[in-house]
Amino acid sequence: MFDVEEIRAQFPILQRKINGNPLVYLDNGASAQKPQVVLDTIQRAYGQDYANVHRGLHTLSTISTDNFEAVRGKMARFLGAPSEDHIVFTTGTTEAINLISYAWAAPRMQPGDEIVLSIMEHHANIVPWHFLRERQGVKLIWVDTDADGNLDPQAVLDAITDRTKLIAITHVSNVLGTVVDVKSICTGARDRGVPVMVDGSQAAVHMAVDVSDIGCDFYAVTGHKLYGPSGSGAIFIHPDRMAEMRPFMGGGDMIRDVHRDSITWNDAPMKFEAGTPGIVQTIGMGAAVDWMMDVGMDAIAAHEAGLRDYALDRLTGLNWLNVQGNPRDRAAIFSFTLDGPAHAHDISTVLDKKGIAVRAGQHCAQPLMEHMGLTATCRASFGVYNTLAEVDALVNALELCHDLFA
Ligand code: PMP
Repeated sequence: MFDVEEIRAQFPILQRKINGNPLVYLDNGASAQKPQVVLDTIQRAYGQDYANVHRGLHTLSTISTDNFEAVRGKMARFLGAPSEDHIVFTTGTTEAINLISYAWAAPRMQPGDEIVLSIMEHHANIVPWHFLRERQGVKLIWVDTDADGNLDPQAVLDAITDRTKLIAITHVSNVLGTVVDVKSICTGARDRGVPVMVDGSQAAVHMAVDVSDIGCDFYAVTGHKLYGPSGSGAIFIHPDRMAEMRPFMGGGDMIRDVHRDSITWNDAPMKFEAGTPGIVQTIGMGAAVDWMMDVGMDAIAAHEAGLRDYALDRLTGLNWLNVQGNPRDRAAIFSFTLDGPAHAHDISTVLDKKGIAVRAGQHCAQPLMEHMGLTATCRASFGVYNTLAEVDALVNALELCHDLFA
């Protein structure tokens, strides 16, 4: 039985007062808070079990390596990957997408080749492809959403030409909350021989993800949004794509033999993990995905659907507030503006005085903001520990903003 109060009790930070008010944390899209089990795991990993991984034969190094490597299996289960060998650890989604850009995409792109993107992408899933545009003459092909913020999978497939080398698409928009039908995109793209990279940063925290069912070639997640530590992350890479990748970063661990005139690489996935990794961060991420799977992804999704529906109802009831987008399938993420002169930063500052944390600005999604004709929005993004009462607190504080700035 999902009990939100029981969940909340596991997050020490939720006891904090901010500016004299109980913290209402609605900035989960930027980063999520950490449950006690993750904090304890980090404490233990440093306090009892710490040593470098893959290097030593001594007891602590073996324990540390075992704890670190166990996360590959946890992440494979979390993402529905057939094998832990398909999981590469990263510091987050930004590094994961850059890895794919350098290790897989760059060597196979010729001038005039095309990468299809949606207009909803986060800069992390734009800028690495711009690098290829600048350096290798690759063309970026943008697919717009409709007026409600839906992305039609067919429109993405229609953008494929005989020069398309990759589709890079978000699973959930960090601005509008739109859930993209990535499975249909992957199915259609596979028929046409085009690999798909899915940015799962905002999705994996809200819903069960099964990369085998989706049929994607790459699926990137980030630990800090999954109730785990910052500086942790992972990417599922289809074995066919992994076989095509050449290493990106060179250094220790990714190598088998180094001589004066030659090198040989380690096997994948370690071939793509040069140097000392985020040992404790990764171990903490393992505790976080275990925790999420224990709570149950379906229970999390059901709880957040309740929050989403209630928040949508309350926010759209404010006729001076403009919720951006009205996608058919939405995660509990809302961007909004207020009528009148108040800038998103002003609203966020007033909300903060009431203890409510939201994000304000362009949300690292400038092409989408331009597409929507906006310079900035506030964003309330919900997580597993949020409550209906917190939706009410947000609405009350917004009413105060309206009174102040109208
Ligand atoms: N993609 C999306 C959709 C995101 O929301 C974010 C984080 N805001 C990122 C990528 C970047 O992830 P990371 O913080 O792990 O680099």
